[in-house]
Amino acid sequence: MLEEKRKSQPDSSPPVAGLETLRASLRGELLQPTDEGYDAARKVYNAMIDRYPALIVQCVDEADVIAAVNFARRNNLLVSIRGGGHNAGGLGVCDHGLVIDLSRIRYTHVDPEARTVRVGGGCTWGEVDHATCALGLAVPSGIVSTTGVGGLTLGGGLGHLTRKCGLTVDNLLEASVVLADGRLVIANERHNADLWWGLRGGGGNFGVVTSFVFKAHPIDTDYGGPMLWELNQAPEVMKWYREFIRQAPEELSGFFLFLVVPPGPPFPEHLHSKNMCGIVWCYTGPLEKAEATFKPIRERLTPALDLVGPIPHPALQSMFDPLYPPGMQWYWKADFVNELSDEAIQLYIQHGSQLPSIQSTMHLYPINGAAHRVGQHDTAWSYRDATWAEVIVGVDPDPANKDRITDWARKYWNDMHPYSAGGAYVNFMMEEGEDRVKASYRDNYERLVTIKQKYDPENFFHVNQNIKPTV
Ligand SMILES: Cc1cc2nc3c(=O)[nH]c(=O)nc-3n(C[C@H](O)[C@H](O)[C@H](O)COP(=O)(O)OP(=O)(O)OC[C@H]3O[C@@H](n4cnc5c(N)ncnc54)[C@H](O)[C@@H]3O)c2cc1C
Repeated sequence: MLEEKRKSQPDSSPPVAGLETLRASLRGELLQPTDEGYDAARKVYNAMIDRYPALIVQCVDEADVIAAVNFARRNNLLVSIRGGGHNAGGLGVCDHGLVIDLSRIRYTHVDPEARTVRVGGGCTWGEVDHATCALGLAVPSGIVSTTGVGGLTLGGGLGHLTRKCGLTVDNLLEASVVLADGRLVIANERHNADLWWGLRGGGGNFGVVTSFVFKAHPIDTDYGGPMLWELNQAPEVMKWYREFIRQAPEELSGFFLFLVVPPGPPFPEHLHSKNMCGIVWCYTGPLEKAEATFKPIRERLTPALDLVGPIPHPALQSMFDPLYPPGMQWYWKADFVNELSDEAIQLYIQHGSQLPSIQSTMHLYPINGAAHRVGQHDTAWSYRDATWAEVIVGVDPDPANKDRITDWARKYWNDMHPYSAGGAYVNFMMEEGEDRVKASYRDNYERLVTIKQKYDPENFFHVNQNIKPTV
């Protein structure tokens, strides 16, 4: 079967000349389609993506990345950059080109005094959480620990700590970047100011980030978890939530979701496989004040299930991991949202109560609080005035259900889009084309084009949510 598929691929051989020299210059591995390990290495998280690169360079250090970039440029090869491999549209891999695979550049160096952490470009967030929590610290990131640091950070980074600490990019202090011409540069407040601005939201457009330095916060234990309600309570819950989250203390975050309750512990049997709505909370204030913070919420809207309580930060960060192992079919749609009108809420509920599988869901992530205090033009990430990032994902383990989950997500999004703010968080989109990318950066787009023109005038790095250079 695999052989048949491989044969059906157009010839993807790169120029053989220089291949052995490349191999000899690497500390990491160079994989071709006939090599053992190639199939595992070309796979990404979303099983809807099935690409066959000609070469995969499994880099172990910056020198390997530089060698891979120079080889690809000299041989005119298509290039993709793979961090954690989680991207919705599979932008870490490409057909017939060269994949710069960073997944072996994995290290975390925490400086407990400075409260910073240097992270290898191929790390996942679980590794960062593990390293920082041991020292009583946390870096704002996403809600699934297997997600790559690289892609999530460069696209912005939304999660439980966004309201309190800002986006992941708001906590980035420095990046080491291999540019399209093979140079290694540092971007931070003092060096390469334009690149530094563009990296914070502009995705993988400007180069390969081999290491990130983040500011960490004194957070190790949260008071959090899901609260679930029956669907008939959804109108009341959503209307209450839309007001509450605007003025909630910043140490309290909660994203709204529609879900099907997973049929297993810790969920009680009577709720198994039931379509419900919920809020996943994360409170990072003083633990002794947690109960009092949640008391009015619990009294106002008695939940059908309340799993909110003290929890180590890495445990909350990886709570959804078992529900979302790699290798499932994923179809993504997204928007930013400013207001939740009564009319919109009705439509959210209509589609949210028809989830096509256990894993399919709709989330509304609040992005106010600290994220709003950074100006719209201070970083490339433009939607500082939005209240939520909405994501609709059709997810199913069975490829036979691909059309069902895709149709559901598309219909949901089509109905909701007129109520949205226009653009979407680039990390929640599949490949939707230039107009959607422009809409997501709004008036920051022009500046991104100028930076792209300076650092990557040939658009060498274009397997991403692409910002085209002017020329
Ligand atoms: C289950 C799941 C949960 C998620 N939850 C969240 C969430 O809570 N919050 C959130 O903000 N996002 C979330 N995301 C979205 C996530 O941010 C994107 O999928 C992101 O692209 C993943 O990064 P990656 O490194 O794993 O991706 P990859 O597929 O490896 O790469 C994606 C893109 O990022 C670029 N890239 C990656 N690493 C580098 C690097 N080191 N240097 C230069 N470019 C690089 C590449 O150009 C590529 O185009 C989630 C995704 C999944 C699948």
